[in-house]
Amino acid sequence: MRPVDTPTVVNPLREGLGAERTPDPCTMVIFGASGDLTRRKLLPALYNLALDGLLPDKFSIAGFARSDMTVEQFREQALESVRQFSRRPVDPKSWDRFARGLFYASAGSLKTDDFHRLAELMARVHRERDTGGNRVFYLSVPPSAYSGIVEGLGASGLAARERSGSGWTRVIVEKPFGRDLDTARELNQELAQVFAEEQVYRIDHFLGKETVQNILVFRFANGIFEPIWNRRYIDHVQITAAESLGIEGRAGYYEEAGALRDMVQNHMLQVLSLVGMEPPIAFEARAVRDEKVKVLRAIRPLLGEDVARYTARGQYGPGWVDGREVPGYRQEPNVDPASTTETFAALKLYVDNWRWAEVPFYLRTGKRLPKQTTEVAIHFKRAPLLLFRDMVDPTPLESNVLAMRIQPNEGITLKFHAKVPGISVRIRSVNMDFLYGASFAVEPPEAYETLILDCLLGDSTLFARRDEIEAAWSLVTDVLNGWRELPSPVFPNYEAGSWGPREAQDLMARDGRRWRRP
Ligand code: NDP
Repeated sequence: MRPVDTPTVVNPLREGLGAERTPDPCTMVIFGASGDLTRRKLLPALYNLALDGLLPDKFSIAGFARSDMTVEQFREQALESVRQFSRRPVDPKSWDRFARGLFYASAGSLKTDDFHRLAELMARVHRERDTGGNRVFYLSVPPSAYSGIVEGLGASGLAARERSGSGWTRVIVEKPFGRDLDTARELNQELAQVFAEEQVYRIDHFLGKETVQNILVFRFANGIFEPIWNRRYIDHVQITAAESLGIEGRAGYYEEAGALRDMVQNHMLQVLSLVGMEPPIAFEARAVRDEKVKVLRAIRPLLGEDVARYTARGQYGPGWVDGREVPGYRQEPNVDPASTTETFAALKLYVDNWRWAEVPFYLRTGKRLPKQTTEVAIHFKRAPLLLFRDMVDPTPLESNVLAMRIQPNEGITLKFHAKVPGISVRIRSVNMDFLYGASFAVEPPEAYETLILDCLLGDSTLFARRDEIEAAWSLVTDVLNGWRELPSPVFPNYEAGSWGPREAQDLMARDGRRWRRP
């Protein structure tokens, strides 16, 4: 139900797009409610959902963390976070309504015994707000704390599986989900002891981005692309996730992770699976995820010599980015001066199925690259060009490219060839552009808004299923093991502000191709 005092902006371009659904009344318990993610993402996302009237009337948030805080202090802290990080300004009337649903209890040492405090808090929220017994547990704590919390939820009975009439229970697990195949399996096993798979929502905020969801719409809502979306017409695919930022003070996390774990295992393989999947039989969680996992399973494992042949890794040294001189990775605060953590990774993958046989998927990601950009570029096979061999200006024609920009400048560009105006026939590449901002004139929701709302609605389409996570980790763990056995590269091997190490260019050059400049 849309609250009466919520300001509603009517967008004429959304006319006919159908009514939004509203979740059942429920409580979201946030573990780690005193932390960075809660402040920067979760509370602002929840407030924006409330502003749009997308949360149920009785929606409540129960913060649970070890820090001592009163409910009033938690509400003040929440207001400060929303003021600082919300994409829209705070509206006092809506804030008051939202803040009435905010509660907090101190988690003590978060040992199993401490969960009675959480039970009391939830009982209080249920009494005061009549939330129907529905609850979501959000694990917004460091990964090392996941197991203990899941165990506590199980032992205390708070995670009791849904019984008829007692409302539903769900759990959202943040990334990183494991650090290799074994640890991911272990965590899945621990979750499975307490929750059924349908109750588990493994979040990858990339999947909440409008442009990532649009990959499915673009492919399956249009009739003209699907017939050419295969090995007959596509030469290769490039997926780039470039960051101009460094590690932004997160050495503790990044030293343990590296580019492969931080970006490839989750975001990039998720995008690859959306680009590569077969049409699902329905746009619902099971059907979509069934098709995605088939792609991940079809990726040829990188074993033995293939690791050296089909991958490249790098670490940035000092350089210049955005006109600013920046230190090398090893000079960043709290980074080991001899660190061998990779800040750049490139992979060449094959999806061994009928659609994609022998079409390489090239993935690259890195920090301190020249610009912040994420895109998927579909490179089509070249036309024979026999007719126009001498008319190309100024360099030989490249193939047609369809580039889907995930962020920023969200949109899609199709590169094709056109005749240069003039008496003679001369040909040059031109772009046909679609820009989200210009076409829809609305600000898209933050990824966390989309994903939290989906979870409240019980829609897990945009969350990773157990088998997807394990298939992705299986591939990445092979590469990590392969890298361990190879001689360590001489790091740093690329300058901050460049497009990565020489080895990444060589990976392409060996195939007679080059990376696209996004
Ligand atoms: P923080 O390090 O800020 O931790 C969050 C809260 O967890 C802390 O405020 C602390 O609260 C509690 N906590 C810390 N250590 C423990 C522990 N050993 N046991 C129990 N509770 C603990 O993390 P973030 O908020 O940055 O991230 C939370 C999760 O989200 C992590 O898994 C992270 O990987 C993931 N994530 C974060 C992103 C971000 O932008 N911050 C982006 C993507 C994912 P208290 O001491 O009060 O109990």
